[in-house]
Amino acid sequence: MRPMSENHLPTAELQALDAAHHMHPFTEGDALNAKGARIITAAQGCYLTDSDGIEILDGMAGLWCVNIGYGRQEMADAAARQMRQLPFYNTFFQTSHPPAIHLAAKLAEIAPGDLNHVFFNGSGSDSNDTNLRMARVYWAHQGKPEKQVVISRWNGYHGSTMGAASLGGMKGMHKQGGLPIPGIVHINQPDWWAEGGDMSPEEFGIARARELEEMILEVGEDKVAAFIAEPVQGAGGVIVPPDSYWPEIKRILAKYDILFIADEVICGFGRTGNWFGCQTYDLHPDIMTIAKGLSSGYLPIGGSLVSDKVAQVINAGDEFAHGYTYSAHPVAAAVALENLRILQDEKIIETVQAETGPYLKEKWEALTDHPMVGEAKIVGMMASIALTPDKASRAKFAAKAGTVGLMARERCFANHLVMRHVGDRMIISPPLVITKPEIDLLIERARKALDETYAQVK
Ligand code: PLP
Repeated sequence: MRPMSENHLPTAELQALDAAHHMHPFTEGDALNAKGARIITAAQGCYLTDSDGIEILDGMAGLWCVNIGYGRQEMADAAARQMRQLPFYNTFFQTSHPPAIHLAAKLAEIAPGDLNHVFFNGSGSDSNDTNLRMARVYWAHQGKPEKQVVISRWNGYHGSTMGAASLGGMKGMHKQGGLPIPGIVHINQPDWWAEGGDMSPEEFGIARARELEEMILEVGEDKVAAFIAEPVQGAGGVIVPPDSYWPEIKRILAKYDILFIADEVICGFGRTGNWFGCQTYDLHPDIMTIAKGLSSGYLPIGGSLVSDKVAQVINAGDEFAHGYTYSAHPVAAAVALENLRILQDEKIIETVQAETGPYLKEKWEALTDHPMVGEAKIVGMMASIALTPDKASRAKFAAKAGTVGLMARERCFANHLVMRHVGDRMIISPPLVITKPEIDLLIERARKALDETYAQVK
């Protein structure tokens, strides 16, 4: 075994060890062997430092999660305090502890509507597994065990466990491991740029929303437990729905007796410019999935926010035979509480809504003057641009989908900016504390990367 102090070995040695022993999520093994992983050793504010000492502007807040930015001493202090006081205890079998109690109460206070109850989980994926079971148990407790089917959307992302990946609509994921599991069906996404054809965005939004009604009728209302969706699809490419989409979905949800699960793992905790994406779109979920921004990623924690209506039924029936060792982990809960305090006390979300969000929006939308950028979409601090060889026809590149996006991502890295690609869409989701000068830098680097990519493909 190598001593811990060797974590600052030269980059090539770290990469070799990494390729030999570390299996990465969503990474081709060959790529690791050929090029080696990018190794991040430190971070502060909106900047990462890599193992060669290069500072990189993090346009993705890690994985959409470091909402308060990196390096907050108060977060480390909260973790250390809690670790000394009570590093672990479980919340099974009628036990609790102060961090769980205070975090649950705080979440009930900030969550919209009557989402007054929390079931804690370890991540977004296992939160969605919880939600899947809870929705089915909710109906079973009411004598309707046949209401089992959950309707989801193609190209939605809900996590990587068997349940969550089945709820997700990533076809590439379904190809591996025999997914989806039974009882999950998918409707199409509201991605006008890629799939809208000759329809106007508004016509298309209505048409895609109506697929929910068609699916409810096809499956049978008496068999449908819930509809799950992200207010804005994040990992699918920051697909901001046309304005007509959510009102029509709401009309349909009001008509049929099914639950609505809002997956706010990305949208929650300020990402869309409000505390929750549901507030941005005036949605009223029965269950809400939270993770990521709940602790700004400083420690893993997720949760299912549950409405009075659902909680009453779940609590009144037989025990909900479900839970994780790390449900409401005390250190993670204490860190999440500190994160919420920082978000609130420093008015970080208000600043996104009133100042930095509109500033980024103006600069981001101006990227459509670039010859290769088709639509630019943005809500709060999550944004995407569609790369295209011909804006007027919304054409796709001749190369395999994602080839140009990958080139652009590499040019971003070369210019010390993290921007992700989803196919040929480029996406950002920076820390919510990004300042106006940092936004200027992000846009400057993005433009340079786009110019360099364009020079390669035109
Ligand atoms: N739901 C959404 C909307 C997500 O974006 C993600 C992760 O990106 C998840 C669920 C899964 O969360 P986790 O990776 O914490 O399991």
